[in-house]
Amino acid sequence: MAGIHYKYLILGGGVAAGYAAREFAKLGVGAGKLAIISKEGVAPYERPALSKAYLFPQGAARLPGFHVCVGSGGERLLPEWYSEKGIDLILSTEIVKAELSEKTLTSAAGATFTFDNLVIATGSSVIRLTDFGVEGADANNILYLREIDDADKLVEVIQSKKNGKAVIVGGGYIGLELGAALKLNDLDVTMVYPEPWCMPRLFTAGIAAFYEGYYAKKGINIIKGTVAVGFNSDANGDVTAVKLKDGRVLDADIVVVGVGGRPLTTLFKGQVDEEKGGIKTDGFFKTSVPGVYAVGDVATFPLKLYNELRRVEHVDHSRKSAEHAVKAIKAAEEGITIEEYDYLPYFYSRAFDLSWQFYGDNVGDTVLFGDSDPSSAKPKFGSYWIKDGKVFGAFLEGGAPEENKAIAKVARLQPPAADVDQLKNEGLSFATKL
Ligand code: FAD
Repeated sequence: MAGIHYKYLILGGGVAAGYAAREFAKLGVGAGKLAIISKEGVAPYERPALSKAYLFPQGAARLPGFHVCVGSGGERLLPEWYSEKGIDLILSTEIVKAELSEKTLTSAAGATFTFDNLVIATGSSVIRLTDFGVEGADANNILYLREIDDADKLVEVIQSKKNGKAVIVGGGYIGLELGAALKLNDLDVTMVYPEPWCMPRLFTAGIAAFYEGYYAKKGINIIKGTVAVGFNSDANGDVTAVKLKDGRVLDADIVVVGVGGRPLTTLFKGQVDEEKGGIKTDGFFKTSVPGVYAVGDVATFPLKLYNELRRVEHVDHSRKSAEHAVKAIKAAEEGITIEEYDYLPYFYSRAFDLSWQFYGDNVGDTVLFGDSDPSSAKPKFGSYWIKDGKVFGAFLEGGAPEENKAIAKVARLQPPAADVDQLKNEGLSFATKL
């Protein structure tokens, strides 16, 4: 079957796809030259909203309110925007086969699409407890969150279990944001995670102590150092309890699992170079296959600042990598070169009235500064990471926009900090005076 041909094809309809489309439009793309193929039924949207305002009990965010590119202060790309620009949005279409050397993709329904340039933006899928054969993990109301359909299901279950008991499995950012969201919906929330403190991949013990204290004050029960090993369910197949490895059994009407994600690269296995679990790219997001680019969660790219290959699963990188790849594609066509991607890692999260930002690399020794008492009326604190006498990373809870900019500058410039005690005393002013 002859496929539909596009000069540019974006596979995946998430954050990176939306920002890539905007960049294509900015740089000029003729009508009918570009398409986005997405498994999801809606135009690209700002995924982080799903674990935050989408779950608010009142005034919840709904589409079209958070289509890209509002998350970074840009114009919202409504479905009409794509048609005005002559960009085809091929929705509810899952690609099940990719033949990169043939420049062909095939959908579950058997449609084929051919391309000159492909931007792989398939993102990640959640890790499920059923993947590890956890007993009873296929019961009803054991939920995950990645796409808008998952969020709708979660909202439906939250509404049907008013004042019920919720157990959150996992203490990463999804767990923390969902713990807060479910509490705001008046559920009785317990969080369970195996590590000694929450968000261990980023948080120090000092940072985590604040959030755990704050959550406890909000009435969230936290159980650490153990894992869910099984679930009980009733005659309808609805979950009723979570069994923990330490022998405890927790009643549950809803279970939300946030135990990490996996980049969606399986379609391309054996066809493209991989590294660190992702598709290996150069500093222009070009893969080992000519005409094929990879951006967002799936790309393992050279992080120039640290001189190493990294994969980053955060929204800021998904936006910027997509824009950079499109600039590189267009520049190559014009025979000009652009600078290599030079990214400063940036992560953030929001829950309850809290809001933190982190820039840089969390390596080396750490210093906690400011007021990290969870009982304070307006807690504001941060942390620096110091390696080889230089500040590599900076974290700030409750920062004003200009203060967040200041910690970003610290992480970018890596100023010397010989005296750790002085850094502790100076705290935020070390950053703001830079
Ligand atoms: P995605 O946005 O995941 O898009 C991938 C798209 O590809 C999806 O539309 C998917 O359906 C589609 N797709 C995949 N395979 C196929 C296929 N075979 N055929 C067709 N379509 C396919 N990051 C932060 O920095 N801060 C946050 O606060 C934050 N909150 C988050 C909250 C949630 C609930 C989630 C899930 C993620 C959050 N993230 C956050 C991470 C951030 O959203 C991701 O890093 C970002 O969305 C990655 O963009 P992407 O375009 O690579 O992938």
